[in-house]
Amino acid sequence: MIGKQKFYINGKWVNPANNHDLQVIDPSNEEPYAVISIGTKKDVDAAVGAARNAFITWSQVNKQTKINYLEKLLDIYQSRWEEITETMSREMGAPLDWSSSAQTTSGFDHIKDFIKRLKKFEFEKKFDENSNNYITYEPIGVCGLITPWNWPINQITLKVIPALATGCTMILKPSELAPLSGMLFAEIIHQAGFPPGVFNLVNGDGKGVGTDLSSHPDIDMISFTGSTRAGKLISKNAADTIKRVCLELGGKGGNIIFADSHPDAVRDGVRNVMSNSGQSCDAPTRMLVEKSIYKRAVEEAADEANRIKVDSALKRGNHIGPVISQKQYSKIIELIQSGIKEGATLVAGGPDRPNGLTKGYFIKPTIFTDVSNQMRIAKEEIFGPVLSIIPFENENEAISIVNQTNYGLGNYVQTQDIIKAKRVARKFRSGGVYINGNSADPGTPFGGFRQSGNGREGGNWGMEEYLEVKTICGWE
Ligand code: NAD
Repeated sequence: MIGKQKFYINGKWVNPANNHDLQVIDPSNEEPYAVISIGTKKDVDAAVGAARNAFITWSQVNKQTKINYLEKLLDIYQSRWEEITETMSREMGAPLDWSSSAQTTSGFDHIKDFIKRLKKFEFEKKFDENSNNYITYEPIGVCGLITPWNWPINQITLKVIPALATGCTMILKPSELAPLSGMLFAEIIHQAGFPPGVFNLVNGDGKGVGTDLSSHPDIDMISFTGSTRAGKLISKNAADTIKRVCLELGGKGGNIIFADSHPDAVRDGVRNVMSNSGQSCDAPTRMLVEKSIYKRAVEEAADEANRIKVDSALKRGNHIGPVISQKQYSKIIELIQSGIKEGATLVAGGPDRPNGLTKGYFIKPTIFTDVSNQMRIAKEEIFGPVLSIIPFENENEAISIVNQTNYGLGNYVQTQDIIKAKRVARKFRSGGVYINGNSADPGTPFGGFRQSGNGREGGNWGMEEYLEVKTICGWE
């Protein structure tokens, strides 16, 4: 059993105020393999005190010094690549090869891109040529950063790096289900030599440490990525202290496949949902198919799902791994059963375990067809390898179905008519639109409309979240 009970506070690994252990479970075999501590208000207070103290000097550090620290961090991150990859595979079930090429790579890309943006970022500028007013961007202060388990290092780098780059200090609370990559990241920060107190890590659950951070009077901002359920609670808990709350929440993406789309569109859409075992906030989990190609699309989707192998995350290969936990496994199976009960047609997968996998939270890639947008499988974020296929007659009907959701994170359109694609892209009510499988470049803003959140992460937008804007009149 790996013992990881300490927290990183004020530049040191320290014992928690109280002993309260939590086992970390390997989702590929359901066995506990590490133990962390669940923090309390005392631990949070110690970390906030360290961060507040460090803010006095870190907020004043010049841009070049911050760039030097971040470049060192990037080098160390690269040198510990395999360790980061393996840690994530074991804690959250992303198979090794994909964990490296997608999960570890995403962290690297974010650090690199924020360094590039920081180099060009103007923290001070004159308001207007003929004005004597001056605008300054200043770090907001001490930040509480709360992250999920599904893209652990991706989420941590999207928060920690812009907070460091803008001169903020912080307390990170990674997901208690996958906390070890966050702790490894704290080691990397330590190795890079950031001053004590700039970055702190306290483990814990949402109800305890998550609430203590959200309601803390000495924390100026919370940046949260996770479920819409927790986002609502955090907003309520933060209300009394009027801190800034940046939310990156759930999604229920639509993927419109027109009859004139590329021949691979359906298969690509299926793989996109199943990757990371369906545990991505912007996965295109509702596939809308034009009626004239519906029969062919259903056959292709089922065939593609049946080709996807499921196996342990600690094996090499291009299979998908387990889902994160027993709770998540049970929720997904219950939703698959609800799809069957509500009358959708199951054409691939289903609630039974994949062949030969008697232990581990494994779920068969599952496809439902003849789904209506009112069914639970079309409305709720399942967060598992489950795709719902919905037929449509015309463009307006398809857009309206996609937008009929409380979420608005990522939507997709497939057609060889680029004018039609752009028209659809403008009408989608979401923070991201992906035309014909194109992906977002590093540094573009990522975030949602409606109940998918209110923040934007990445690039300059991601840095601005951590800044206050000041107008100084009479500068000249
Ligand atoms: P979760 O909301 O259960 O937990 C996320 C984090 O919040 C964890 O660290 C947890 O301990 C903490 N938390 C839980 N309740 C809290 C509370 N009341 N107060 C403070 N903190 C609390 O989510 P999850 O299951 O870890 O992650 C999956 C969710 O994250 C999905 O809904 C997914 O769509 C979303 N997500 C969104 C994005 C995005 O950028 N929009 C990216 C990744 C994941």
